[in-house]
Amino acid sequence: MTPAAIVVVGSYNLDVSVQVEHLPAPGETCLGLGRLESPGGKGANQAIQAARCGAPTAMIAAIGQDAAGDEALAVWARAGVATDHVARLADCGTGFAVILVDKGGENSIVVDSAANARLEPAHIEAGAAQLASAKLVVAQLETPVVSTVRAFEIVRAAGGATLLNAAPAPEAIDAALLALTDFLIVNELEGQALSGHANAAAIGEALLGRVGKGVVVTLGSEGAMLFQHDRPPHRQASFKVDVVDTTGAGDAFTGAFAARWIVDGDAVAALAWGVAAGALACTARGAAASYAEEARIAALAGV
Ligand code: ADP
Repeated sequence: MTPAAIVVVGSYNLDVSVQVEHLPAPGETCLGLGRLESPGGKGANQAIQAARCGAPTAMIAAIGQDAAGDEALAVWARAGVATDHVARLADCGTGFAVILVDKGGENSIVVDSAANARLEPAHIEAGAAQLASAKLVVAQLETPVVSTVRAFEIVRAAGGATLLNAAPAPEAIDAALLALTDFLIVNELEGQALSGHANAAAIGEALLGRVGKGVVVTLGSEGAMLFQHDRPPHRQASFKVDVVDTTGAGDAFTGAFAARWIVDGDAVAALAWGVAAGALACTARGAAASYAEEARIAALAGV
């Protein structure tokens, strides 16, 4: 087993983004203007950003025994993410997302969860020793909740902490999962879905009472807010960058927040790293392919 301070339990998708003149109507066939294939999936993105920030990071995920699965392992190897407990399923393909982007930047997305939907509690049990030795376990909502609950139980029982990025926006959140969560990270839409409130302060205050340590609400070009027990809310303004593509900014935030938090438990410094990594992720096309290294993030964050 490769020891890892951060273990990410989550998804991998092969993202195929096709440029089109206009999004096709039902029954219509459009010719594409070119395509970009890139590694995606919120779990994989967050693991890659954490590793780029210098954190020893491992991934627990399910992929297929197909070419996309081979590519996933190569992507993680290049990023230095340990994959001892990535399961390769014989009867199911790797997660796949088809993204159509029109001339105006409007998009339509279809995600075939495939193997991601088959990450089972047994796969989590196989990684129990790695989870128990982690400082922080990070998860999202693209893989089965029952498995994330088991992973959170294992790390909590061993004295480690948990971080849930509640994305994509859920209709309702599993109460058992939230009760096992130390840090909850949401954007405004996700926060609204979970709390019924529309503004960041109300979202943060409403959700803080349901988690162990803190809530972060990310605010796009407005930066992010941190809510912690017994402390006033803290706002981190965004860093001004030339924005090319905001895809994957939220995942960069979560990966960098996790990597800085495990250093000394300073959530305010972690917030600054998250906001800096999110900004830098906006400066190039694609998700994980555009993520910055530790030195650039630390320099921008100033902590
Ligand atoms: P998501 O991608 O999950 O919707 P956000 O849009 O809130 O999440 O973006 C996450 C983080 O990325 C923000 O907190 C911010 O730090 C950074 N970010 C996003 N958009 C911009 C932008 N236009 N300029 C600078 N930073 C940005």
